Amino acid sequence: MIMKIRVPSVTALLAGLLIVSQLTSGAVVKGKEPSVASLKKKQNAVAAIERHESEIIALSDQVWGFAETALLETRSAAVLADYAEKQGFTVERGVAGLPTAFVAQYGSGKPVIGVLGEYDALPGLSQQAQTVKEALQSGAPGQGCGHNLLGTGALGAALAVKDLMAAGKLKGTIRFYGTPAEEAVGGKVYMARAGLFNDLDVCLTWHPDEKTRASVDGSQAILECIVEFYGRTAHAAADPWDGRSAVAAMEFFTAGLNRMREFVKPTVRMHYSIMNGGDVPNVVPAYAKVWCWLRDSKGAGVDQLLARARRIAEGAALMAEVESKLTVQGGNWDTLVNLTGEKVMFANLAWLGPITYTPEEQEFAKEIQRATGVAPKGLDGTVQPWAAPKPDPEGGSTDVGDVSWIVPTVSMNATTAPVDAPWHAWPVVACGGMSIGHKGLVYAAKAMATTMVDLFEDAKTLQAVQAEFREKTKGIVYKPFVPDGPPPLPKR
Ligand SMILES: [Zn+2]
Repeated sequence: MIMKIRVPSVTALLAGLLIVSQLTSGAVVKGKEPSVASLKKKQNAVAAIERHESEIIALSDQVWGFAETALLETRSAAVLADYAEKQGFTVERGVAGLPTAFVAQYGSGKPVIGVLGEYDALPGLSQQAQTVKEALQSGAPGQGCGHNLLGTGALGAALAVKDLMAAGKLKGTIRFYGTPAEEAVGGKVYMARAGLFNDLDVCLTWHPDEKTRASVDGSQAILECIVEFYGRTAHAAADPWDGRSAVAAMEFFTAGLNRMREFVKPTVRMHYSIMNGGDVPNVVPAYAKVWCWLRDSKGAGVDQLLARARRIAEGAALMAEVESKLTVQGGNWDTLVNLTGEKVMFANLAWLGPITYTPEEQEFAKEIQRATGVAPKGLDGTVQPWAAPKPDPEGGSTDVGDVSWIVPTVSMNATTAPVDAPWHAWPVVACGGMSIGHKGLVYAAKAMATTMVDLFEDAKTLQAVQAEFREKTKGIVYKPFVPDGPPPLPKR
């Protein structure tokens, strides 16, 4: 089903922009009074998205069906890049050494505004667009984080801006970034390392959610490392005294890490997977390997955790009389929230109003809630009131964080799934392949496009967004956590 959001009237537009000027007035922004002309441009942007709505939704459904995992999103990236090209964007494919990353650009000169889109799926989450858990293809990947919606919604926003530029209504450059592998190595980190975001004035993105809101809470920093131990093999019964066990060292290491949990801040999250824990019991194992993720609300926090994990690895090796090696694999910076930009976004959400649902869609959501053991509250498409940011973000990290330290980044959430239903799980896949997800992606496209109209049109607002960014990043030099060398592409 295709959503029809009413195009707000000029009166509603004026009311919405009054909110913008109230929110951005005073100490932060002294914006000029919005003109009727710029209000009409927002209506044009909304109308452009409605004109392309069925195409954008069809693209989303294609990407949902492909369900390709990190760095294997060949068909997903291709359909989005092909569509952008057909719409008049200049497309560069395979950027930053990532075959499934691309940049689509339209227009020229300043300002240069970017929009980030993702499309990778998660392994093992294949699911039909229905209220009963049932795979489309057993064991196959699924869009468990709604990235099919994310990528196409973001492209829809860029397309609306492009249409306004083509009609001579906006001036500047619009750039869509196809950013792969958010769920794994973080394509944006490699794109950031290649300098692809450096000339942007501001960047926008969104993420599917169970709520609709301006994203003011940010995300955690994360650092990924591999810890390896190298011992000496021997017969485990005949002469164990000649062996030195790498697995013993690994056990000391994980015990140390777990003991440390008592002495870290509540904002810390640490988790690991044992990748190699020996082969057979009757051989003293010469090799062991642990994959470790360290998170904190700020990048400085993970730097400290890394230093401590390094010492624990060295201590474990010392006890087991083996060698240790710790290799940083990658990670994401925390997300730097730009409140000035988020207020502009919020005003546009308030102007667009809530996402509304049919009784059938509410029942669809409630059936999923009953099936997953949460209260059958249905869907919440209301715009969440403006709330001050939490001091620390909730658990979770994203490569949007890296972009947010290079260029002011504005993000929002749109409802695409039932309240309280599990994420990275089948309900998200189910809703992402039907009208509930479609409504969220079209809404997000409108929210980002209208916010971009403000940023293209009102130089003072854009300057205020940039001033906040400069203030918050004073003395900080962004450096990606990834090691030198090409991105780790999976073997086909
Ligand atoms: Zn996601």
